[in-house]
Amino acid sequence: MASEFDLIARYFTRPAPAGMLGVGDDCALFPVPPGMHIATSTDLLIQGRHFFPDVDPQALGHKALAVNLSDLAAMGAQPVGCVLGLALPQADDAWLAAFARGFHELADAHGCPLMGGDTTRSPHDLAISVTVFGAVAPARALRRDAACAGDEIWVSGALGAADVAYRLLDGQLPADAARLADARRALEWPEPRVALGLALGGVAHAAIDISDGLLQDLGHVLAASGVGAKLRYGAMPVAAAVRGLPPAAAAQAVLGGGDAYELCFTAAPGDRDRVLAAAAGAGVPVTAVGHIDPCPGIVVLGADGRPMDGLPRGFDHFPAS
Ligand code: ADP
Ligand code: MG
Repeated sequence: MASEFDLIARYFTRPAPAGMLGVGDDCALFPVPPGMHIATSTDLLIQGRHFFPDVDPQALGHKALAVNLSDLAAMGAQPVGCVLGLALPQADDAWLAAFARGFHELADAHGCPLMGGDTTRSPHDLAISVTVFGAVAPARALRRDAACAGDEIWVSGALGAADVAYRLLDGQLPADAARLADARRALEWPEPRVALGLALGGVAHAAIDISDGLLQDLGHVLAASGVGAKLRYGAMPVAAAVRGLPPAAAAQAVLGGGDAYELCFTAAPGDRDRVLAAAAGAGVPVTAVGHIDPCPGIVVLGADGRPMDGLPRGFDHFPAS
């Protein structure tokens, strides 16, 4: 078995881009473009909580970084670099090689090199912590507190597939191999909407990425902005893997499903064409799903035009009992 330092050298040390001091010193060093602020965010992934123990390690390497890049996307920030904390129960070469491949491929795709980290043995399960750094002009940052009454509410991509995949793998939905084949990629290989977030700078008002379900995540925007929302269920972009499910399971997947890593954002109704142009430039479909309302709370209008009840709740690690 490789030593800690062999392991870092083999799997996590890549040549740093010009102007950056990467893995190997006490700290990484990177320049901040003039006039920009650093956007930074951390996500922690725990085995059994965020991923199944037998998940494909290459997909896990991808996802560990993807969920962090999604936070930069939701802020409208340009990725600059990242650091990786690993608590490993054992050092398995095949596992580490695949994990590192998934991680570095996504890092390269987004110009977000691994600059440093920490590696320790875990007496328990596997834990992965990634911190990303991005650059954004403060006036273009897509903050949660910037939604305005009258704004249209938009969602990127399609909703529900990752939730369906999770529930199929967890046995909460009856086994369905064709549906799982359709849904699994959304759960295991999410594509962070970095280009869309950047294109929305100066166009959108508030934004958030959907990690815990549309209603819950939009709820954070509403709370921060002191407003409410009216959504149209019939307008939602529903993933193919959701079609044909019982209505309650479909509503859970679309409105309450976590792990979507799509962006939910608001923009002035007069900026519809600019939003569509930004989305076309980023190559990501976007759909208007409702409006910001001055009254607090979320109302979802069903197909009959009446407010739906029994709306799903999003994921909460520490739910009040
Ligand atoms: P220190 O003792 O100063 O924390 P370490 O011995 O832990 O340094 O790490 C040595 C170098 O390897 C540092 O530059 C650190 O950032 C980097 N490093 C450690 N683990 C990882 C990892 N999982 N991914 C990327 N870089 C890592
Ligand atoms: Mg260390």
